[in-house]
Amino acid sequence: MAQTPKNIAIIGSGLVGSLLAIYLRRIGHKVTVFDRRPDIRTIKFSGRSINLAMSNRGWRSLDEVGIGERIKEIAIPLDKRAMHVNDKPVYFQKYGKEGEAIWSISRGILNKRMIDLAEEAGTLFRFNEKVWDVDLPEAKIFTGESEKSEWKEYSFDLIFGCDGAFSRVRHKMQRRSRYNYSQEFIDVGYKELTIPANADGTHKLDKNSFHIWPRGEFMLIAMPNIDGSFTCTLFLPFEGDVSFESLKTEDEAKEFFKTYFPNVRKVIEDLTKDFFNNPTSAMVTMKCYPWTYWDKVALVGDSAHAIVPFYGQGMNAGFEDIYVLDQLMRQYGDDWETIFSTYQEERKPNADAIAELSYRNFVEMSSKTADPKFLLQKKIEKHFAAKHPDKWIPVYSRVTFSDRPYAEALAIGDRQEEIMQQVMQMPDIETKWDSKEVEDKILAFIKE
Ligand code: FAD
Repeated sequence: MAQTPKNIAIIGSGLVGSLLAIYLRRIGHKVTVFDRRPDIRTIKFSGRSINLAMSNRGWRSLDEVGIGERIKEIAIPLDKRAMHVNDKPVYFQKYGKEGEAIWSISRGILNKRMIDLAEEAGTLFRFNEKVWDVDLPEAKIFTGESEKSEWKEYSFDLIFGCDGAFSRVRHKMQRRSRYNYSQEFIDVGYKELTIPANADGTHKLDKNSFHIWPRGEFMLIAMPNIDGSFTCTLFLPFEGDVSFESLKTEDEAKEFFKTYFPNVRKVIEDLTKDFFNNPTSAMVTMKCYPWTYWDKVALVGDSAHAIVPFYGQGMNAGFEDIYVLDQLMRQYGDDWETIFSTYQEERKPNADAIAELSYRNFVEMSSKTADPKFLLQKKIEKHFAAKHPDKWIPVYSRVTFSDRPYAEALAIGDRQEEIMQQVMQMPDIETKWDSKEVEDKILAFIKE
């Protein structure tokens, strides 16, 4: 069903706001994007670079508006994890089936390109304009220098809040009665570090791998950039024996890298410099409901559901919100009230599911990936899945390489875990893990 063109404001020119602008322009709406930040295309890089993993849901949303190929130009496919366990050679774990990969992409570079593409599509951007207040029923926004300064008022037909985890638009919704909201910080923080390229521009580690150094309470990960460098993220408790708080001097930091990450010793000076120059950031899970107000205002992306980054799905989930919204816009035309109510009902259980899965992956990535029992369980699952691809799709693949709902992945994953717990109890499982007996046992459980 066609839609009557509307005058629409998007608050936030992040990844989600700029992709939503492209979708809305395609339908013919007039789109103005407000951001409190300056245009990131004009500022020199701040030194804080996050790398993102783009997977199926993200690509599907980009391909729908024909920009997937333009984004692949700035991304690197990773088809495996490279596990750096102390005192063992690096070993590799394929992510999925042949041809399946996640893609490493710099958030800053991606955001710049998305803004370019949104502008090409006819979006008007208003940078350096912070939204301080929103009149929800009237779809008005108020921008200005500060909370106390004189504000500019703008009227729109519709407003989308794409203003991130600490959304101002949501903040306004929160003040209404019966508005549900929760936020929970984890006690682990993160810091971005860089492994520079070799002198000839090549990568210092395998380029097509997602590198992980699991160390129990903490871990280091590294993802490649197109310029030959790697962006590393150190996840470490804020407080405790080995923590951000406990690493105060350069010598302490150097000793820490030497002890726990010996195979990156060559770049220890770079890591130490970054450690003290770059900020330590916190991670939060934020849930809220409802996500919409009448037929006037909707939250999309992190403003509706911020999750911890351990499944690499935050942006992918935000992009999928847009894909779903677009389908509903086609289905319901000008009936924005139905579009918004269906959107939030459909997406909320899926956002909660990926929040849960991301939190669990935090535990799994930091501690279990080095645990032999866990590795054996994964090996059995993999072996069985390869033999019976129609009967067993691992939860990681359901989340990463499929478009099926996150809630479904969580439910099936829970059932698979129950089965595997039983299988792991079998006597001598270590020696007969690939036997017919184990295979038959799993098949019997699946039939139950
Ligand atoms: P944001 O990127 O937060 O953008 C919000 C925008 O709104 C900003 O530009 C901001 O300036 C603007 N804004 C805010 N308030 C106002 C206001 N009052 N007025 C005007 N403008 C305003 N996701 C993945 O899919 N894969 C990954 O591998 C992955 N890794 C991650 C690793 C880390 C360490 C982190 C922290 C996140 C990761 N994510 C990942 C999540 C991903 O970064 C976010 O989900 C995504 O950036 C959210 O986009 P957004 O546009 O909703 O919000």
